[in-house]
Amino acid sequence: MSTPAIPVAPPAALPPVAQRFWRYVQIDTTSDPGADATPSTERQKVLGQLLVDELEAMGATDPAMDDHGYVYATLSATTRTPGPVLALLAHLDTSPDAPGAGVTPVLHPAYDGSAVPLPGDLSVVLDPERQPALRDHVGHDLITSDGTTLLGSDDKAGVAVLMQLAAELVADPSLPCPTVRLCFTVDEEIGRGVDKLDLERLGADVAYTLDGSGRDTLYTETFNAAEATVTVEGVAVHPGYAKDVMVNAARIVSRLVAQLPPDEAPETTAGREGYFHPHTTAEGTAQQASVRILLRDFTDEGMARRKAFLRHLVDTLRTQHPRATIDLAIEDQYRNMGHYIQASDPRVISLAHEAADSIGIDLTESIIRGGTDGARLSEMGLPTPNVFNGGHDYHSCFEWNTVQNLTHALRYTQALVATWAYRSRTP
Ligand SMILES: [Zn+2]
Repeated sequence: MSTPAIPVAPPAALPPVAQRFWRYVQIDTTSDPGADATPSTERQKVLGQLLVDELEAMGATDPAMDDHGYVYATLSATTRTPGPVLALLAHLDTSPDAPGAGVTPVLHPAYDGSAVPLPGDLSVVLDPERQPALRDHVGHDLITSDGTTLLGSDDKAGVAVLMQLAAELVADPSLPCPTVRLCFTVDEEIGRGVDKLDLERLGADVAYTLDGSGRDTLYTETFNAAEATVTVEGVAVHPGYAKDVMVNAARIVSRLVAQLPPDEAPETTAGREGYFHPHTTAEGTAQQASVRILLRDFTDEGMARRKAFLRHLVDTLRTQHPRATIDLAIEDQYRNMGHYIQASDPRVISLAHEAADSIGIDLTESIIRGGTDGARLSEMGLPTPNVFNGGHDYHSCFEWNTVQNLTHALRYTQALVATWAYRSRTP
């Protein structure tokens, strides 16, 4: 595999973690939901191979990329008592929602709080009115794309932090370190991030993904998620002879959708509020129509209530339209990872707070109104909350991170590793 092109050299004054970030974002790793293979795009392997080469050069143990593009490496323990094996994960791919080829990183030193037009497309403006988090970063050195692409901080910030962490731990065996398994995954952005992840090869007891936006946040919960499909078979006849004969499937499906509470929709809820989201109707006819509805709720009781509500609606429609056949199928998709974390090893949360305390930061626990790789790993038995990596406004040309946030995420991750090294010895 040839060495990837890094057209824009990192400014020499940047700290090493930001230099890595600067180089990695210039390698196109856009994933492709239309491709069946893993990885969905071969270009993800270009970055994967670069990481393997760099891990080898720094002296990490057994860095390797498998056929699916997953990169594994080990940082050997420097503590004498073996504790739990800690996995740290970040994903190689970037979102297909915005262009990801030819990323040109741009440094905006000492941000002054004003709007920032990006030089490759002056109509793309970072604006604190729309992106209020910018206001908390006055004085930071912003990194953006030139406005024609996404930046790729999601999740090359995580990749850069983990690579710099590895370099420093390998270089200095006096630093406290449990056995750490690094893993760089593929296709996270298209929902397949752990499909081919070899959990046995990973061989970890606890894990964190470095894939969360912002600062000082630990994402510990996701929705409970299910999808309902309602299919209606009607009776279609010529409208001219339809009286008392026709049963219009399209009308019945519309009636169902109209009865979903409008104040329990993704567009009307936030925070811990759940919702019903009718997202796809098949081309409905009088003969047949169907609708697919996402159900989302943070609590088990709330999810049960949503399912019961939908069953009740369908039962009522069946009574009203006895000659229609109305089928309801509900499939569970994933479950709030908070549940699995509590059941398997809640220390992934308590030690994350201890790590924060050790460097004097206040770690806020937050929820994700969606799923993550960590949610699926937690469900598979590996408790995996999601740690902040400093970036903002992901999946868009407005994406940004800062040199200070990258340094901060690195410092926190170092504290996390040290905390596990010290504290994991006591059962
Ligand atoms: Zn991500």
